Amino acid sequence: MPFAARARDRIRAWERRTRPRDPETDAALARRWAELPVSARTPAQVLGRFGTGCEGTHGVFPACDLACTPCYHSRDANRVRTDGAHTRREVTAQMALLRRLRGPRAHAQLIGGEVTLLAPDDHAAALAIMREHGREPMSMSHGDLDDDYLPRLVRGPEGRRRLRRVSFAGHFDSQMFGRRGIPRPPDEASLHPYRRRFVERFDRLRREHGVRSFLAHTMTVTPANVGQVAEVVAEVGRMGFGMLSFQPAAFVGDDRRWRDGYRGEDVGADAVWAQIERGAGTRLDHRVVQNGDLRCNRTAYGFYLGDHWYPALDGDDARDLAVRDAFLTHCAGIGFGGTPPVVVAARLLRLALGRPSLVAVAAGWAARAVRRAGVRNLLRHRPRPVTFVMHRFMDADEVAPAWELTSRGEVSEDPDVRGVQERLAACHYAMAHPESGTLVPACVQHAVLDPGENARLRTLLPLVDVRSRR
Ligand code: SF4
Repeated sequence: MPFAARARDRIRAWERRTRPRDPETDAALARRWAELPVSARTPAQVLGRFGTGCEGTHGVFPACDLACTPCYHSRDANRVRTDGAHTRREVTAQMALLRRLRGPRAHAQLIGGEVTLLAPDDHAAALAIMREHGREPMSMSHGDLDDDYLPRLVRGPEGRRRLRRVSFAGHFDSQMFGRRGIPRPPDEASLHPYRRRFVERFDRLRREHGVRSFLAHTMTVTPANVGQVAEVVAEVGRMGFGMLSFQPAAFVGDDRRWRDGYRGEDVGADAVWAQIERGAGTRLDHRVVQNGDLRCNRTAYGFYLGDHWYPALDGDDARDLAVRDAFLTHCAGIGFGGTPPVVVAARLLRLALGRPSLVAVAAGWAARAVRRAGVRNLLRHRPRPVTFVMHRFMDADEVAPAWELTSRGEVSEDPDVRGVQERLAACHYAMAHPESGTLVPACVQHAVLDPGENARLRTLLPLVDVRSRR
């Protein structure tokens, strides 16, 4: 092809790539908005306006080598062999369906059992498949890793770097048994050295291999550890995690691991959120930005300067709410996560040129944020973005009847069951079923579908020895 034609093609491709709106994204958002129950269509709602929700894999590597109480995986999960070929095949099929139904971009969790039981080559291949389908992957791990696992993950067999950035969620709480060095943690504080070591592994990855990372910390909350949440927030918020997510326990998964009464006021949504606020040392307004249904998800976005956490948006300031509205309305096509910074910058520039009024909105927000944080504070400390999340899965016996009705296209007369149906319809966390071409909420996956799926997988991939690593 002559040089001029090649140059023209490149310019056209760059022009397409840096458009601040994408028709396919817009169509996926419109579909998602139309699916939402009226109760979830609030001005703060992210679904259907900025994103289509988070996604996760299922049945791609069900086994785990720790034991948690509770454990969301069904009782057959640990009788399924981890098998790289199966993982690649299933991840490909599930991502293709998510790409088709949920549009060209989303965050997706590589989740199931323990991700690091996958050989590093299979893990890297799964991440590559997810990115090929426009998914920004996050690997979900219990954080008990072999020293050489991450270097082998980011470098191929010939030693060449194959990943430039990774996202991991490390799940740490005192109800997980079998962690090397601390098989039965007496309390949350005793796990802090293990949490710190987890972060240090990724610091080393950056220093020694030039690989950037985003880290989330996740923790299950029960009556046994709810009183320690504030201390965990205060301590772990300083460690280098970009997200602290707490999951009040639900009666779902393997019922042999249901040890506590998981209900009661002390682990209700308000009580757990109050603990997170105590640890953060400030009020966390979870109504400024809504991800799905507030009964499922509470989120507060902001940043630490030194020991103090500041919200990105002040829910009591109408000007900040206008910033939120402008952001949700105009920025869905920018693709902040997983897009090269130069492309994000070009899209933002084109957005600003097309809508100059947004520049004033953004500048006003930046000036208020600087005023709130204090110039001297900003000069003294580097801002560390940290998002607080609470995600409340539902009990299996709530989900099953509600899903049954939803599947039949019926709405319950019972307000409690109808509430569960609304939460499922506004679900922020979807899993794909390529065999039926459908997506289901993760609650439905764990409460209704996992047992049958893992029983089938157990026959397909009979166990060799999931504990061989130890
Ligand atoms: S997985 Fe369940 S708890 Fe989570 S957002 Fe979906 S319906 Fe709500």
